[in-house]
Amino acid sequence: MSALEENLKVVLQRIAELSQSKQTSVRLIAISKTKPVQDIIELYRVGQRYFGENYADELEKKANDELILTQCPDIRWHFVGHLQSNKVNRILTRVPNLDCIQTVDSIELANRLNNNLKQQSKTLNILIQINTSNEQQKSGIKPNESLSVYDHIKSNCTQLVCQGLMTIGSLDNVNADDDSDFQVLVQCRKDLCEKYNFAVNDIELSMGMSNDYERAILAGSTIVRVGSLLFGARH
Ligand SMILES: *Cc1c(COP(=O)(O)O)cnc(C)c1O
Repeated sequence: MSALEENLKVVLQRIAELSQSKQTSVRLIAISKTKPVQDIIELYRVGQRYFGENYADELEKKANDELILTQCPDIRWHFVGHLQSNKVNRILTRVPNLDCIQTVDSIELANRLNNNLKQQSKTLNILIQINTSNEQQKSGIKPNESLSVYDHIKSNCTQLVCQGLMTIGSLDNVNADDDSDFQVLVQCRKDLCEKYNFAVNDIELSMGMSNDYERAILAGSTIVRVGSLLFGARH
């Protein structure tokens, strides 16, 4: 077994243990930014299907790579970066197997995505990105705007399938025993479920990365985004 396969096995095992204790199912998105296509293919071969990138150009390039197209026909791409409006058309028209944009962080972006998809008669999964740490430089809507943004998308953006909420969380919390960012996202989901009478399991929560995915699952995450723990440190 290669080192990457071994890493995947360890992380999946840990996810299985933790999600069982929480009685939820948790999806792993392998964040492959800066890593070569060969690494992606290696994990695909042993069953990983969800991969994530945070730069639009890099995602477009990898998704159209000849080897990816031929050897990874069922790959599912997630975009997890800040999406600039001038990249919307490219990401929606030139990324084969795009499964989800996790980082819808404004009504303007939702509208822009929706209009573009409408012209193509397509729908797309999205998550609403929440800035749970209240840091100026972080993308994402404020927690207290989550209901109104969800409302807007539900009533106006017919092409967007809003599956839930996403947060990056504060980097300051990464090594501490602090899950306050995760709790903010959990509370946003609770508000949403109460308002719309959804079951908690109907709304996904994307939270947790290499350093804190275990803590995130214990807090209620259903999607973890793990990069360096699978592929090794980035340079
Ligand atoms: C890079 C990145 C990750 C993965 O980070 P690691 O610490 O390498 O696991 C997760 N989410 C987002 C949005 C990222 O940009």
